[in-house]
Amino acid sequence: MVSFTAPKAPAGSAPPLAVTFANTLVATRGKVRDTLTTPDDLTAWLAVNVDATGAGAPGAAIDEADLTRFRALRDAIRAVLHAFVDGEPAPAAEVEQINEASAAAPHWPVLTAGATGYAVSRRTDRAPVPAALAALAHDTADLLTGPLAADLRACHGPGCVQFFVKDHPRRQWCGSGCGNRARAARHYHRQRGHSA
Ligand SMILES: [Zn+2]
Repeated sequence: MVSFTAPKAPAGSAPPLAVTFANTLVATRGKVRDTLTTPDDLTAWLAVNVDATGAGAPGAAIDEADLTRFRALRDAIRAVLHAFVDGEPAPAAEVEQINEASAAAPHWPVLTAGATGYAVSRRTDRAPVPAALAALAHDTADLLTGPLAADLRACHGPGCVQFFVKDHPRRQWCGSGCGNRARAARHYHRQRGHSA
């Protein structure tokens, strides 16, 4: 039995799991780089982001084939998030891919009564890898249909490939790096404009 809790982030704290997963593709100085290139990368990422307890962490048996499955799901999620933030029609094949990942490890909610209230976690009887893939698919569905959907953005920083949830009315960038670069670029263009 595997149980896990996908972190449900309120605005202002950690981004939703689906966004964190989509953002495993990064850009460094305008060059796109995949941070999940080896089974070890994925093992480490899962250990931090998908809290798997019970039958063992998904990292225990990650191989190249698993890595390919996670990256394929990541790319499908990115395609759907992009279409969503751009107001374009949902890409049918990628939506289907997300639903297949979801169906491969059906989950049920488990209610836990604690001293200070109730908590709910999802449980599945499938293996850790399909369970983790399904958790990522579920979180994508929750994100796109939940209260954070309206604030989901793709960063328009130069060359940036990150998504973020706009947790502040004036937030324009995925992080301070993109904000600083954009300000520097504006300053540079202004200077050139004046001297031209
Ligand atoms: Zn950015």
